[in-house]
Amino acid sequence: MKNNDNYIIEECRHCGNKTKLDVVGKYTEYGDPEFDYRWEKNWLMLKCCACKKISLGSIYSGEDTVISYNNGEYEYDEIYTMHFPIETYHGTNVPEKVNDAFSSALKVHYVDKVICLIALRRTLEIICKDKGANGKTLEKKILDLTQKCVFPQVINEASDILRILGNEAAHGDDVNYDERIVQEMINFTQIIIEYVYVIPFRINHIKSKLISKSNSNI
Ligand SMILES: [Zn+2]
Repeated sequence: MKNNDNYIIEECRHCGNKTKLDVVGKYTEYGDPEFDYRWEKNWLMLKCCACKKISLGSIYSGEDTVISYNNGEYEYDEIYTMHFPIETYHGTNVPEKVNDAFSSALKVHYVDKVICLIALRRTLEIICKDKGANGKTLEKKILDLTQKCVFPQVINEASDILRILGNEAAHGDDVNYDERIVQEMINFTQIIIEYVYVIPFRINHIKSKLISKSNSNI
């Protein structure tokens, strides 16, 4: 994972290449041992040697990632996370199919906007299927899940945009998409994923931490 202080070999989310990412900026954050266990997180500003675009990643290690203890020395596992262009959802309860489909959309974002929109639409189809949506079209399925409060109400508003964009993209109409529209569709899909899977997962995680803390204080 970490090959050198000056670069890492990881996947670039802009161009999809697994390649050399130069470290062009670094900041180390430490956990406060008074309130938490010991950990450190190295924030890395990375420049892709293939497409030259900038990403933000982090490498975390701490008491919760110890893998061995030899001759008074701890060995830590290092957890690499890409935060920008966008964090994917490994390690949460987002189904792998959903995560893979969304990651594919992000990979092609700067390569082909039409393919990106089709991949986003596919991500939404997979989420709807996973949540047992009723309806023949994607828009109807989204409406169904909104009415059942599985999706946030605000998503209703976006279903028209989805219909138009999805149909145009899928039928190969000769259209050129504004970067802002594609970005909005990415945000929209991300909101759904966060709302449906990630937020409940994080709330449960915090809750179980609080409960175990209060139990240990009794
Ligand atoms: Zn790149």
